[in-house]
Amino acid sequence: MSQLNIFGDDERKSKLGKTNVEYKSAGSILTPASGFMADYDYTLNPYSGCSFGCTYCYAAFFSRNKEKMDTWGDWLTVKENALTLLQKKRKRPLIDKTIYLSSVTDPYQPIEKELKLTRNILKELIEFHEVRLVIQTRSALVIRDIDLFKKFKHIQINMTVTTDSEKVRKVFEPFCPGNKQRIKAVKQVHQAGIQSCITMTPLLPVYNPDSFAEELLETGINRFIIQPFHKDKGKFVRGTREEALKILNEFNWSDVEYERVLKIMQKKIPNLGIGKTGFAPI
Ligand code: SF4
Repeated sequence: MSQLNIFGDDERKSKLGKTNVEYKSAGSILTPASGFMADYDYTLNPYSGCSFGCTYCYAAFFSRNKEKMDTWGDWLTVKENALTLLQKKRKRPLIDKTIYLSSVTDPYQPIEKELKLTRNILKELIEFHEVRLVIQTRSALVIRDIDLFKKFKHIQINMTVTTDSEKVRKVFEPFCPGNKQRIKAVKQVHQAGIQSCITMTPLLPVYNPDSFAEELLETGINRFIIQPFHKDKGKFVRGTREEALKILNEFNWSDVEYERVLKIMQKKIPNLGIGKTGFAPI
């Protein structure tokens, strides 16, 4: 497949909503995992930047420069040669390698609906590599690829759900799909027979931990990961820190409160994984 033909002219948008979109060739597509990702062999990021623009996003700190960091959420770079780079790996297939898709972007960006870059990467992995794949997303678009997930021998879909409150979600994850949409989507993935996990990474203020836990359990999923939210100054990349702190105060969200909520949720969800990283390798 010619790289130039992967995206049609109609699909090559330079702006989607508030996001400025660029198309660039990347030097590589698989990054050897290290540090807190060391449970994996590689991370795979079809995009850099992220339209979801979560205010606490650690990926923002890997931005190329301060301007990119300050405008996190407003720009996205499509790695237009991502598939070609992966196709080059056919000579040495990635048998049994563990891959995390994705560590510094969401593979189900809004633009993915049109570009199908992640979808084409999945097809390539299915056909030529027997990888062990973990997909991490906050997007309901993930259900589009259930047909492909079924073809993997080893796959886990992680859906991040951080709070039971839309008010809280809108402050910290203003451009992400709502909580209910995400829960519904991951339930659908699970019901299709795909191993799924709900990651509360990080856990944001929760109104009602009992009913939140019940709602999550109602999906039928039995894998959960939880991680505390750090409200340090450095963790905010956009101009919402004051608003965020106000919300945190309203919710009395402190380490003590986190521990209280955690205990309640642990009682309801016996196999709640507590991890610094929040990743659940398979
Ligand atoms: S969806 Fe993930 S990568 Fe995107 S801004 Fe939010 S935390 Fe960062």
